[in-house]
Amino acid sequence: VYNFSAGPSAFPESVLQQAQQEMLDWRGSGMSVMEMSHRGKHFSIIAEELESDLRELMAIPENYKVLFLQGGASAQFAFIPQNILNGKSKACYVNTGAWSEKAIKDAKAYCDVVVSASSEESKFTTIPDVAGWVLDTEAAYLHYTSNETIHGVEFQNIPDSLGLTLISDMSSNILSRTVDVSQYGLIYAGTQKNMGPAGVTVVIVRDDLIGHADKKVPGVFNYAEQVKNGSMLNTPTTYNWYLVGLVLKWLKAQGGVAAIEQRNIAKSAKLYQAIDQSTLYRNPVEKAYRSRMNVPFILADEALDKEFLKAAEANGLYELKGHRSVGGMRASIYNAMPDAGVDALIAFMAEFERSH
Ligand code: PLP
Repeated sequence: VYNFSAGPSAFPESVLQQAQQEMLDWRGSGMSVMEMSHRGKHFSIIAEELESDLRELMAIPENYKVLFLQGGASAQFAFIPQNILNGKSKACYVNTGAWSEKAIKDAKAYCDVVVSASSEESKFTTIPDVAGWVLDTEAAYLHYTSNETIHGVEFQNIPDSLGLTLISDMSSNILSRTVDVSQYGLIYAGTQKNMGPAGVTVVIVRDDLIGHADKKVPGVFNYAEQVKNGSMLNTPTTYNWYLVGLVLKWLKAQGGVAAIEQRNIAKSAKLYQAIDQSTLYRNPVEKAYRSRMNVPFILADEALDKEFLKAAEANGLYELKGHRSVGGMRASIYNAMPDAGVDALIAFMAEFERSH
């Protein structure tokens, strides 16, 4: 089947096969990765390769640390203000959808949130023009969500933060397009979309932002403590690190981020074209901000939704139901979704339209 889930989402098939082959004996160690000590010599190799492959794929500069944490991207909604405010009382947030809203809600427990811009009035179908953003020079940072997974809205460029430390939740588009890491103070992402299974949160943070957490912040939530301990202040999610590592090696073999970005441009373009050309389907997002990763679409007649989903599943096309907050459909087409999956969806949609 082709799995269009927003996350956890489709894996590259060859990665699953490799994991299966290595399940009982990783590289001749006689052990499964699952039973290895995180302090042992075998797992150290996995951890080192994981970080170096991510550094290579994203061209992460040396003055950034890379952490592999727990708690999901959602935990970062609170850890970021706790670590980065550094005595300041304000932070700026851009509100472009459901995930921005959640980040804002949690940050409010730690600081005054300045909502620099919001697209709520448009029901999150656009991104407000950067020229109109309210940027408070006293704020500790500016936070935005580079891809809104539920609303299907994606920043196509890095916004100008006018000198404010820039922080981005890249959970649903990390590694799908090239990004200049040096423009950011901090980037974070849950792994369950483009990087592997759920259970690992990647945090890429610039050196000068580390070490300013409030004394009350517990060790596992404190970036400086985690840096000091190589993300192993407590037992890490070892098997998930290994799987993320395999996905990174797969991505390198695909030609890296720049190569996968070209494929993502082509995959999303043909799906949007099919939607725009039809009279049954509609995507509500302003064209300039349409996501390459999550493609929501609405059927002209809501009464057909159930039948559409049932027929799609009968054709091996799974998890197309839109998020409950927006309704309709959503096709998530992350890095691991092959062209053939998008082609099969387009062909099915055309046939469903013809027959209805
Ligand atoms: N941010 C974005 C953009 C997401 O899409 C998600 C999850 O889908 C999250 C944050 C929350 O991630 P987690 O479930 O890992 O906490």
